[in-house]
Amino acid sequence: MTEDQRTAELKAGLEVVDARIRSACAAVDRDPEGVTLVVVTKFFPAADVTRLHDLGVRHIGENRHQEAADKVAELDPRTRADLTVHFIGQLQSNKAAAVTSYADVVQSVDRAKVVAALDRAAAQRDRRLSVTLQVDLAGSDAARGGVAPHEIGALADAVADSAQLDLRGVMAVAPLGADPAPAFARLRELAEDVHREHPDATWISAGMSGDLEAAVAAGATHLRVGSAILGSRPALR
Ligand SMILES: *Cc1c(COP(=O)(O)O)cnc(C)c1O
Repeated sequence: MTEDQRTAELKAGLEVVDARIRSACAAVDRDPEGVTLVVVTKFFPAADVTRLHDLGVRHIGENRHQEAADKVAELDPRTRADLTVHFIGQLQSNKAAAVTSYADVVQSVDRAKVVAALDRAAAQRDRRLSVTLQVDLAGSDAARGGVAPHEIGALADAVADSAQLDLRGVMAVAPLGADPAPAFARLRELAEDVHREHPDATWISAGMSGDLEAAVAAGATHLRVGSAILGSRPALR
């Protein structure tokens, strides 16, 4: 495939997703300006990130630490400076420090230990870091991670009490194989609870290639869309 073909393919994918977001917004009378598209580039090379940037993308998401670190390091510094990099993958506290070397936002914060590790690492780098709390909507869906709903309040307070972390809101993945609408409705209620205590925490990160319409309907402010734009990934996860 030539460079031009790949760029054309990504452009077509972005157009399809943009049209889906616009029509999902229209259906519930929302302004599309209130929805940020985070393009999930996991499994795809830095060259695709550069193409996406050239096509106007400003937010990318990555879910595997080493891959993300290598990819971001490969970007032209001007391209990198123009992007917001969201880490959306499961995070062990021993990796948290390293993630702060390239991520602007960590969406997948689900434990007090990770909060403490990110705060320490951000302090060492003398920088602030935006975080969202990943909520487990499935109930003990350990494979996908996330804080249990009844523990969100305490975790939100831990972020708010940290020195370097800015609490932006909540994030979730819809339970596999179930209707996403009730799960996203629950996420919205939980987001409102967090927002009441922490007025700056306004983000609801929900919705992927398969369920972005349901997420928009439930008030998502951030969508994380990969395969609908970049094509299908290798089966290995
Ligand atoms: C891979 C991934 C996405 C994007 O999924 P697609 O179905 O390819 O759009 C979104 N969120 C998280 C946490 C992911 O790991």
